[in-house]
Amino acid sequence: MKISVFGLGYVGCVSAACLAGQGHEVVGVDVNPAKVDLVRAGKAPVVEERIGELTAEVVASGALRATTEVAEAILATDVSLVCVGTPSAPNGSLSTEYLQRVAEEIGAALKERKALGDNESRHTVVFRSTMLPGTCLGLLVPILEKHSGGTAGVDFGVAVNPEFLREGTSVRDFFQPPKTVIGEFDPGSGDVVAKLYQGLPGDVFRVPIPVAEMTKYADNAFHGVKIGFANELGAICRALGLDSHQVMDVFLADRKLNISPAYLRPGFAFGGSCLPKDLRGLVHAARQADVSVPLLAHVLPSNAEHLHRAFELVARTGKRKVGLFGLSFKPGTDDLRESPLVELAERLLGKGYDLKIHDANVSLSRLMGANREYIESRLPHLGQLLAGSVREVLDHAEVCLIGTSDPEVLAALPHGSGPVLVDLVRVPDAAARRAEEGYVGLAW
Ligand code: NAD
Repeated sequence: MKISVFGLGYVGCVSAACLAGQGHEVVGVDVNPAKVDLVRAGKAPVVEERIGELTAEVVASGALRATTEVAEAILATDVSLVCVGTPSAPNGSLSTEYLQRVAEEIGAALKERKALGDNESRHTVVFRSTMLPGTCLGLLVPILEKHSGGTAGVDFGVAVNPEFLREGTSVRDFFQPPKTVIGEFDPGSGDVVAKLYQGLPGDVFRVPIPVAEMTKYADNAFHGVKIGFANELGAICRALGLDSHQVMDVFLADRKLNISPAYLRPGFAFGGSCLPKDLRGLVHAARQADVSVPLLAHVLPSNAEHLHRAFELVARTGKRKVGLFGLSFKPGTDDLRESPLVELAERLLGKGYDLKIHDANVSLSRLMGANREYIESRLPHLGQLLAGSVREVLDHAEVCLIGTSDPEVLAALPHGSGPVLVDLVRVPDAAARRAEEGYVGLAW
Protein backbone atom coordinates (compact mmCIF):
# COMPACT_ATOMS: atom_id res chain seq x y z
CA MET A 1 0.00 0.00 0.00
CA LYS A 2 1.03 3.66 -0.39
CA ILE A 3 0.94 5.31 3.02
CA SER A 4 1.50 8.81 4.44
CA VAL A 5 2.44 9.05 8.10
CA PHE A 6 1.80 12.45 9.70
CA GLY A 7 4.07 13.19 12.67
CA LEU A 8 7.52 11.61 12.89
CA GLY A 9 7.65 11.43 16.69
CA TYR A 10 7.83 8.34 18.89
CA VAL A 11 4.71 6.74 17.35
CA GLY A 12 4.97 8.03 13.79
CA CYS A 13 8.60 7.20 13.07
CA VAL A 14 8.17 3.66 14.39
CA SER A 15 4.94 3.11 12.42
CA ALA A 16 6.53 4.55 9.27
CA ALA A 17 9.71 2.47 9.48
CA CYS A 18 7.89 -0.76 10.41
CA LEU A 19 5.30 -0.40 7.63
CA ALA A 20 8.07 0.37 5.13
CA GLY A 21 9.91 -2.70 6.43
CA GLN A 22 6.85 -4.77 5.56
CA GLY A 23 7.03 -3.74 1.93
CA HIS A 24 4.69 -0.74 1.92
CA GLU A 25 5.64 2.51 0.20
CA VAL A 26 5.73 5.13 2.98
CA VAL A 27 6.06 8.93 3.07
CA GLY A 28 6.69 10.49 6.48
CA VAL A 29 5.41 14.06 6.96
CA ASP A 30 6.41 16.40 9.76
CA VAL A 31 6.26 20.15 10.32
CA ASN A 32 9.63 19.94 12.04
CA PRO A 33 12.30 20.10 9.28
CA ALA A 34 14.97 18.71 11.66
CA LYS A 35 13.03 15.43 11.97
CA VAL A 36 12.45 15.27 8.21
CA ASP A 37 16.16 15.84 7.57
CA LEU A 38 17.12 13.09 10.04
CA VAL A 39 14.83 10.57 8.32
CA ARG A 40 16.08 11.63 4.88
CA ALA A 41 19.59 10.91 6.12
CA GLY A 42 18.46 7.42 7.16
CA LYS A 43 18.48 8.28 10.89
CA ALA A 44 15.65 7.78 13.38
CA PRO A 45 14.54 10.95 15.19
CA VAL A 46 14.12 9.01 18.47
CA VAL A 47 16.24 6.59 20.50
CA GLU A 48 14.56 3.16 20.56
CA GLU A 49 15.66 -0.44 20.29
CA ARG A 50 16.14 -1.43 16.59
CA ILE A 51 14.67 1.77 15.15
CA GLY A 52 18.06 3.14 13.99
CA GLU A 53 18.94 0.08 11.88
CA LEU A 54 15.42 -0.27 10.52
CA THR A 55 15.20 3.39 9.46
CA ALA A 56 18.61 3.22 7.74
CA GLU A 57 17.52 0.07 5.90
CA VAL A 58 14.12 1.29 4.64
CA VAL A 59 15.40 4.74 3.66
CA ALA A 60 18.27 3.15 1.71
CA SER A 61 15.86 0.81 -0.10
CA GLY A 62 13.57 3.72 -0.99
CA ALA A 63 10.60 2.28 0.93
CA LEU A 64 10.56 5.28 3.30
CA ARG A 65 11.05 8.92 2.43
CA ALA A 66 10.19 12.12 4.29
CA THR A 67 8.80 15.53 3.44
CA THR A 68 7.29 18.65 4.99
CA GLU A 69 4.82 18.95 2.08
CA VAL A 70 1.35 17.66 2.95
CA ALA A 71 -0.15 17.83 -0.54
CA GLU A 72 2.79 16.00 -2.09
CA ALA A 73 2.28 13.13 0.38
CA ILE A 74 -1.50 12.96 -0.02
CA LEU A 75 -1.26 12.97 -3.82
CA ALA A 76 1.19 10.08 -3.74
CA THR A 77 -0.67 7.84 -1.28
CA ASP A 78 -3.97 6.04 -0.59
CA VAL A 79 -4.01 6.14 3.17
CA SER A 80 -2.81 8.57 5.86
CA LEU A 81 -1.88 7.59 9.40
CA VAL A 82 -2.13 10.60 11.70
CA CYS A 83 0.33 10.31 14.61
CA VAL A 84 0.62 13.93 15.79
CA GLY A 85 0.86 14.76 19.49
CA THR A 86 -2.14 15.36 21.75
CA PRO A 87 -0.53 16.91 24.86
CA SER A 88 -2.26 18.20 27.99
CA ALA A 89 -3.67 21.72 27.76
CA PRO A 90 -2.94 23.95 30.79
CA ASN A 91 -6.32 23.07 32.39
CA GLY A 92 -5.61 19.33 32.09
CA SER A 93 -7.87 18.75 29.10
CA LEU A 94 -6.53 17.06 26.00
CA SER A 95 -5.20 19.53 23.44
CA THR A 96 -6.48 18.78 19.93
CA GLU A 97 -4.61 21.71 18.39
CA TYR A 98 -2.22 19.59 16.26
CA LEU A 99 -4.99 17.19 15.23
CA GLN A 100 -7.15 20.07 14.03
CA ARG A 101 -4.31 21.58 12.04
CA VAL A 102 -3.43 18.30 10.38
CA ALA A 103 -7.11 17.65 9.55
CA GLU A 104 -7.30 21.08 7.87
CA GLU A 105 -4.14 20.38 5.88
CA ILE A 106 -5.20 16.88 4.82
CA GLY A 107 -8.68 18.21 3.92
CA ALA A 108 -7.17 20.90 1.68
CA ALA A 109 -4.87 18.33 0.04
CA LEU A 110 -7.83 16.01 -0.60
CA LYS A 111 -9.55 18.88 -2.41
CA GLU A 112 -6.45 19.35 -4.55
CA ARG A 113 -6.37 15.62 -5.27
CA LYS A 114 -9.97 15.73 -6.43
CA ALA A 115 -9.34 18.84 -8.57
CA LEU A 116 -6.50 17.00 -10.31
CA GLY A 117 -8.98 14.27 -11.19
CA ASP A 118 -7.11 11.74 -9.09
CA ASN A 119 -10.19 9.75 -8.12
CA GLU A 120 -8.90 6.28 -8.87
CA SER A 121 -8.88 5.26 -5.24
CA ARG A 122 -10.55 6.78 -2.21
CA HIS A 123 -8.03 8.17 0.29
CA THR A 124 -8.55 6.99 3.88
CA VAL A 125 -7.57 9.12 6.88
CA VAL A 126 -6.66 7.00 9.90
CA PHE A 127 -6.15 8.68 13.29
CA ARG A 128 -3.63 6.90 15.52
CA SER A 129 -3.21 9.73 18.04
CA THR A 130 -4.86 9.25 21.43
CA MET A 131 -8.07 11.29 21.65
CA LEU A 132 -11.17 11.36 23.79
CA PRO A 133 -14.42 9.81 22.51
CA GLY A 134 -16.25 12.25 20.27
CA THR A 135 -13.10 13.96 18.95
CA CYS A 136 -13.04 12.21 15.59
CA LEU A 137 -16.72 12.36 14.69
CA GLY A 138 -17.50 15.64 16.46
CA LEU A 139 -14.42 17.68 15.58
CA LEU A 140 -12.12 16.13 12.98
CA VAL A 141 -14.60 14.73 10.44
CA PRO A 142 -16.36 18.14 10.12
CA ILE A 143 -12.96 19.80 9.59
CA LEU A 144 -11.99 17.23 6.93
CA GLU A 145 -15.34 17.69 5.17
CA LYS A 146 -15.16 21.49 5.31
CA HIS A 147 -11.63 21.71 3.90
CA SER A 148 -11.98 18.96 1.29
CA GLY A 149 -15.46 19.88 0.15
CA GLY A 150 -16.23 16.15 0.25
CA THR A 151 -18.25 13.76 2.41
CA ALA A 152 -16.72 11.28 4.83
CA GLY A 153 -17.52 7.69 3.96
CA VAL A 154 -18.17 8.71 0.35
CA ASP A 155 -15.32 10.83 -0.98
CA PHE A 156 -12.77 9.75 1.62
CA GLY A 157 -12.57 7.12 4.32
CA VAL A 158 -12.08 7.75 8.06
CA ALA A 159 -10.95 5.42 10.84
CA VAL A 160 -9.50 5.55 14.35
CA ASN A 161 -6.75 3.04 15.07
CA PRO A 162 -5.25 3.65 18.53
CA GLU A 163 -1.64 2.74 19.14
CA PHE A 164 -0.69 0.40 22.01
CA LEU A 165 3.10 0.48 21.70
CA ARG A 166 5.34 0.89 24.73
CA GLU A 167 8.33 3.16 24.33
CA GLY A 168 11.56 1.19 24.66
CA THR A 169 10.09 -1.86 22.91
CA SER A 170 7.95 -0.17 20.29
CA VAL A 171 9.39 -1.90 17.21
CA ARG A 172 8.83 -5.29 18.84
CA ASP A 173 5.34 -4.17 19.90
CA PHE A 174 4.53 -3.14 16.32
CA PHE A 175 5.19 -6.67 15.07
CA GLN A 176 3.62 -8.34 18.14
CA PRO A 177 0.66 -6.07 18.91
CA PRO A 178 -1.43 -7.00 21.97
CA LYS A 179 -4.51 -6.30 19.83
CA THR A 180 -5.56 -4.23 16.83
CA VAL A 181 -8.46 -1.85 17.36
CA ILE A 182 -10.21 -0.41 14.32
CA GLY A 183 -12.88 2.23 14.77
CA GLU A 184 -14.49 2.49 11.35
CA PHE A 185 -16.61 5.25 9.85
CA ASP A 186 -17.85 2.72 7.30
CA PRO A 187 -16.80 -0.88 6.48
CA GLY A 188 -14.65 0.26 3.53
CA SER A 189 -12.54 2.46 5.85
CA GLY A 190 -12.14 -0.42 8.31
CA ASP A 191 -11.08 -2.77 5.49
CA VAL A 192 -8.21 -0.42 4.57
CA VAL A 193 -6.86 -0.46 8.15
CA ALA A 194 -7.30 -4.25 8.42
CA LYS A 195 -5.29 -4.64 5.21
CA LEU A 196 -2.47 -2.47 6.61
CA TYR A 197 -1.84 -4.91 9.45
CA GLN A 198 -2.62 -8.12 7.59
CA GLY A 199 -0.36 -10.90 8.80
CA LEU A 200 0.34 -9.42 12.24
CA PRO A 201 -0.70 -11.55 15.23
CA GLY A 202 -3.33 -10.65 17.87
CA ASP A 203 -7.07 -10.15 17.87
CA VAL A 204 -8.63 -7.51 15.63
CA PHE A 205 -11.60 -5.54 17.01
CA ARG A 206 -13.75 -3.61 14.54
CA VAL A 207 -15.84 -1.22 16.59
CA PRO A 208 -17.62 2.16 16.37
CA ILE A 209 -15.19 5.10 16.32
CA PRO A 210 -15.93 6.44 19.86
CA VAL A 211 -15.42 2.92 21.29
CA ALA A 212 -12.01 2.75 19.62
CA GLU A 213 -11.12 6.16 21.05
CA MET A 214 -12.11 5.06 24.56
CA THR A 215 -10.20 1.75 24.47
CA LYS A 216 -6.90 3.64 24.67
CA TYR A 217 -8.09 5.43 27.83
CA ALA A 218 -9.18 2.13 29.37
CA ASP A 219 -5.63 0.86 28.83
CA ASN A 220 -3.75 3.88 30.10
CA ALA A 221 -6.04 4.52 33.08
CA PHE A 222 -5.71 0.87 34.15
CA HIS A 223 -1.91 0.97 33.81
CA GLY A 224 -1.84 4.04 36.06
CA VAL A 225 -4.15 2.44 38.62
CA LYS A 226 -2.02 -0.73 38.67
CA ILE A 227 1.25 1.15 39.15
CA GLY A 228 -0.26 3.33 41.89
CA PHE A 229 -1.71 0.24 43.61
CA ALA A 230 1.61 -1.64 43.47
CA ASN A 231 3.63 1.34 44.69
CA GLU A 232 1.30 2.07 47.59
CA LEU A 233 1.38 -1.61 48.63
CA GLY A 234 5.16 -1.50 48.25
CA ALA A 235 5.39 1.56 50.51
CA ILE A 236 3.35 -0.18 53.23
CA CYS A 237 5.49 -3.31 52.91
CA ARG A 238 8.70 -1.26 53.23
CA ALA A 239 7.40 0.47 56.34
CA LEU A 240 6.57 -2.93 57.85
CA GLY A 241 9.90 -4.46 56.81
CA LEU A 242 8.40 -6.83 54.23
CA ASP A 243 9.61 -7.72 50.76
CA SER A 244 6.89 -6.26 48.52
CA HIS A 245 7.94 -8.34 45.51
CA GLN A 246 7.55 -11.50 47.55
CA VAL A 247 4.04 -10.34 48.45
CA MET A 248 3.27 -9.61 44.79
CA ASP A 249 4.68 -12.97 43.68
CA VAL A 250 2.10 -14.69 45.86
CA PHE A 251 -0.67 -12.31 44.78
CA LEU A 252 0.08 -12.84 41.09
CA ALA A 253 0.39 -16.61 41.38
CA ASP A 254 -3.35 -16.93 41.99
CA ARG A 255 -4.39 -18.57 38.71
CA LYS A 256 -8.09 -18.00 39.38
CA LEU A 257 -7.55 -14.25 39.44
CA ASN A 258 -5.45 -14.52 36.28
CA ILE A 259 -3.92 -11.07 36.72
CA SER A 260 -1.21 -9.93 34.33
CA PRO A 261 1.95 -9.01 36.27
CA ALA A 262 2.54 -6.04 33.96
CA TYR A 263 2.74 -2.78 35.94
CA LEU A 264 2.21 -4.62 39.24
CA ARG A 265 5.79 -4.68 40.53
CA PRO A 266 6.50 -2.00 43.12
CA GLY A 267 9.15 0.36 41.76
CA PHE A 268 9.39 4.03 40.92
CA ALA A 269 6.71 6.54 39.93
CA PHE A 270 5.31 6.47 36.39
CA GLY A 271 5.65 9.28 33.87
CA GLY A 272 6.11 9.84 30.18
CA SER A 273 4.05 11.51 27.52
CA CYS A 274 1.01 9.23 27.84
CA LEU A 275 -0.12 7.99 31.27
CA PRO A 276 -0.12 11.34 33.14
CA LYS A 277 -1.69 13.34 30.31
CA ASP A 278 -4.27 10.68 29.48
CA LEU A 279 -5.34 10.28 33.14
CA ARG A 280 -5.52 14.06 33.40
CA GLY A 281 -7.56 14.28 30.19
CA LEU A 282 -9.93 11.50 31.24
CA VAL A 283 -10.56 13.00 34.67
CA HIS A 284 -11.13 16.40 33.08
CA ALA A 285 -13.63 14.88 30.63
CA ALA A 286 -15.41 13.08 33.49
CA ARG A 287 -15.68 16.35 35.43
CA GLN A 288 -17.14 18.09 32.38
CA ALA A 289 -19.69 15.30 32.03
CA ASP A 290 -20.58 15.62 35.75
CA VAL A 291 -19.29 12.13 36.51
CA SER A 292 -17.53 11.74 39.86
CA VAL A 293 -14.40 9.55 39.55
CA PRO A 294 -12.61 9.67 42.93
CA LEU A 295 -10.45 6.62 42.20
CA LEU A 296 -9.12 7.87 38.85
CA ALA A 297 -8.79 11.42 40.19
CA HIS A 298 -6.37 10.19 42.87
CA VAL A 299 -4.01 8.17 40.69
CA LEU A 300 -1.79 11.17 39.82
CA PRO A 301 -1.68 12.45 43.45
CA SER A 302 -0.72 8.89 44.51
CA ASN A 303 2.07 8.95 41.95
CA ALA A 304 3.29 12.36 43.18
CA GLU A 305 3.37 10.99 46.73
CA HIS A 306 5.56 8.15 45.53
CA LEU A 307 8.00 10.58 43.95
CA HIS A 308 8.16 12.38 47.28
CA ARG A 309 9.08 9.07 48.98
CA ALA A 310 12.10 8.78 46.67
CA PHE A 311 13.19 12.31 47.57
CA GLU A 312 12.84 11.49 51.27
CA LEU A 313 15.08 8.43 50.89
CA VAL A 314 17.87 10.68 49.62
CA ALA A 315 17.22 13.39 52.20
CA ARG A 316 17.44 10.85 55.03
CA THR A 317 20.98 9.83 54.03
CA GLY A 318 22.13 13.32 55.13
CA LYS A 319 24.57 13.41 52.17
CA ARG A 320 24.67 16.16 49.53
CA LYS A 321 26.58 14.82 46.51
CA VAL A 322 24.16 12.80 44.42
CA GLY A 323 24.79 10.70 41.32
CA LEU A 324 21.58 10.09 39.39
CA PHE A 325 21.54 7.13 37.00
CA GLY A 326 18.73 7.43 34.46
CA LEU A 327 16.85 10.57 33.39
CA SER A 328 14.37 9.54 30.68
CA PHE A 329 10.95 8.45 31.86
CA LYS A 330 11.93 4.79 31.55
CA PRO A 331 14.87 2.71 30.31
CA GLY A 332 15.32 2.14 26.58
CA THR A 333 14.14 5.56 25.43
CA ASP A 334 15.43 9.14 25.33
CA ASP A 335 11.94 10.54 26.00
CA LEU A 336 12.09 13.07 28.83
CA ARG A 337 8.47 14.26 28.73
CA GLU A 338 6.98 14.20 32.25
CA SER A 339 9.84 11.97 33.41
CA PRO A 340 9.60 11.42 37.18
CA LEU A 341 13.42 11.33 37.25
CA VAL A 342 13.52 14.84 35.76
CA GLU A 343 11.15 15.99 38.47
CA LEU A 344 13.20 14.29 41.19
CA ALA A 345 16.41 15.84 39.81
CA GLU A 346 14.80 19.29 39.81
CA ARG A 347 13.59 18.85 43.37
CA LEU A 348 17.09 17.85 44.49
CA LEU A 349 18.65 20.80 42.64
CA GLY A 350 16.09 23.13 44.20
CA LYS A 351 17.13 21.92 47.64
CA GLY A 352 20.78 22.59 46.89
CA TYR A 353 22.04 19.05 46.25
CA ASP A 354 25.18 18.70 44.13
CA LEU A 355 24.04 16.53 41.23
CA LYS A 356 25.65 14.62 38.36
CA ILE A 357 23.58 12.57 35.96
CA HIS A 358 24.22 9.63 33.65
CA ASP A 359 21.76 8.42 31.01
CA ALA A 360 23.34 6.95 27.89
CA ASN A 361 20.21 7.41 25.74
CA VAL A 362 19.74 11.04 26.73
CA SER A 363 23.42 11.81 26.07
CA LEU A 364 23.13 10.19 22.65
CA SER A 365 20.00 12.16 21.89
CA ARG A 366 21.66 15.37 23.03
CA LEU A 367 24.36 14.82 20.45
CA MET A 368 22.21 13.88 17.47
CA GLY A 369 18.54 13.17 18.22
CA ALA A 370 15.51 15.38 17.83
CA ASN A 371 15.34 15.46 21.62
CA ARG A 372 18.39 17.71 21.60
CA GLU A 373 16.12 20.72 21.03
CA TYR A 374 13.93 19.63 23.98
CA ILE A 375 16.94 19.30 26.31
CA GLU A 376 18.46 22.59 25.21
CA SER A 377 15.25 24.61 25.41
CA ARG A 378 13.47 23.02 28.38
CA LEU A 379 16.12 21.32 30.49
CA PRO A 380 19.42 23.19 30.01
CA HIS A 381 19.93 23.08 33.81
CA LEU A 382 19.93 19.26 33.68
CA GLY A 383 21.64 18.90 30.29
CA GLN A 384 24.75 20.56 31.70
CA LEU A 385 24.87 18.02 34.56
CA LEU A 386 25.03 15.04 32.18
CA ALA A 387 28.32 13.20 32.69
CA GLY A 388 30.21 11.44 29.92
CA SER A 389 30.62 8.16 31.79
CA VAL A 390 29.25 6.01 34.60
CA ARG A 391 32.64 6.26 36.36
CA GLU A 392 32.50 10.09 36.46
CA VAL A 393 29.18 9.93 38.31
CA LEU A 394 30.36 7.19 40.69
CA ASP A 395 33.48 9.22 41.55
CA HIS A 396 31.31 12.23 42.38
CA ALA A 397 28.57 10.50 44.36
CA GLU A 398 28.08 10.11 48.10
CA VAL A 399 24.62 8.85 47.20
CA CYS A 400 23.79 6.92 44.03
CA LEU A 401 20.20 7.20 42.95
CA ILE A 402 19.47 4.23 40.67
CA GLY A 403 16.61 5.00 38.32
CA THR A 404 17.61 2.76 35.42
CA SER A 405 18.27 -0.88 34.68
CA ASP A 406 20.99 -0.06 32.12
CA PRO A 407 23.33 -3.12 32.39
CA GLU A 408 26.44 -0.90 32.22
CA VAL A 409 25.28 0.96 35.33
CA LEU A 410 24.20 -2.16 37.21
CA ALA A 411 27.55 -3.84 36.56
CA ALA A 412 29.48 -0.83 37.90
CA LEU A 413 27.56 -0.38 41.17
CA PRO A 414 29.89 -0.88 44.14
CA HIS A 415 29.23 -3.19 47.08
CA GLY A 416 29.88 -2.46 50.74
CA SER A 417 31.53 0.79 51.78
CA GLY A 418 31.25 3.58 49.24
CA PRO A 419 28.29 5.66 48.19
CA VAL A 420 24.87 4.93 49.66
CA LEU A 421 22.72 3.22 47.03
CA VAL A 422 19.14 4.46 46.77
CA ASP A 423 17.47 1.89 44.55
CA LEU A 424 14.34 3.06 42.74
CA VAL A 425 14.06 0.15 40.33
CA ARG A 426 14.90 -2.86 42.48
CA VAL A 427 18.21 -3.91 40.94
CA PRO A 428 18.47 -7.65 40.15
CA ASP A 429 20.61 -8.38 43.24
CA ALA A 430 18.43 -6.23 45.54
CA ALA A 431 17.67 -9.12 47.89
CA ALA A 432 21.40 -9.65 48.61
CA ARG A 433 22.18 -5.94 48.77
CA ARG A 434 19.40 -5.40 51.25
CA ALA A 435 21.55 -7.14 53.85
CA GLU A 436 24.42 -4.73 53.17
CA GLU A 437 24.88 -1.42 54.90
CA GLY A 438 24.43 1.63 52.69
CA TYR A 439 21.57 0.26 50.60
CA VAL A 440 18.01 1.54 50.70
CA GLY A 441 15.41 0.50 48.20
CA LEU A 442 12.08 1.99 47.29
CA ALA A 443 10.89 -1.44 46.18
CA TRP A 444 11.97 -4.38 48.24
P1 NAD B 1 5.55 13.27 19.46
O1 NAD B 1 5.36 14.59 20.08
O2 NAD B 1 6.79 12.48 19.71
O3 NAD B 1 5.41 13.39 17.88
C1 NAD B 1 4.42 14.16 17.26
C2 NAD B 1 5.00 14.70 15.96
O4 NAD B 1 3.96 15.33 15.21
C3 NAD B 1 6.09 15.75 16.16
O5 NAD B 1 7.27 15.35 15.48
C4 NAD B 1 5.49 17.03 15.54
O6 NAD B 1 6.46 17.87 14.95
C5 NAD B 1 4.53 16.41 14.52
N1 NAD B 1 3.46 17.31 14.05
C6 NAD B 1 2.72 18.20 14.74
N2 NAD B 1 1.85 18.81 13.93
C7 NAD B 1 2.01 18.28 12.70
C8 NAD B 1 1.40 18.50 11.42
N3 NAD B 1 0.43 19.39 11.26
N4 NAD B 1 1.83 17.77 10.37
C9 NAD B 1 2.82 16.86 10.51
N5 NAD B 1 3.44 16.63 11.68
C10 NAD B 1 3.05 17.31 12.76
O7 NAD B 1 4.26 12.41 19.88
P2 NAD B 1 4.17 10.81 20.12
O8 NAD B 1 4.76 10.46 21.44
O9 NAD B 1 4.63 10.12 18.90
O10 NAD B 1 2.59 10.63 20.28
C11 NAD B 1 1.71 10.85 19.18
C12 NAD B 1 0.30 10.44 19.59
O11 NAD B 1 0.27 9.02 19.88
C13 NAD B 1 -0.23 11.11 20.86
O12 NAD B 1 -1.60 11.29 20.71
C14 NAD B 1 0.06 10.10 21.94
O13 NAD B 1 -0.80 10.23 23.04
C15 NAD B 1 -0.18 8.79 21.21
N6 NAD B 1 0.56 7.65 21.73
C16 NAD B 1 1.86 7.78 22.12
C17 NAD B 1 2.54 6.66 22.57
C18 NAD B 1 3.98 6.77 23.02
O14 NAD B 1 4.48 5.80 23.58
N7 NAD B 1 4.67 7.89 22.82
C19 NAD B 1 1.92 5.42 22.63
C20 NAD B 1 0.60 5.30 22.19
C21 NAD B 1 -0.06 6.43 21.74
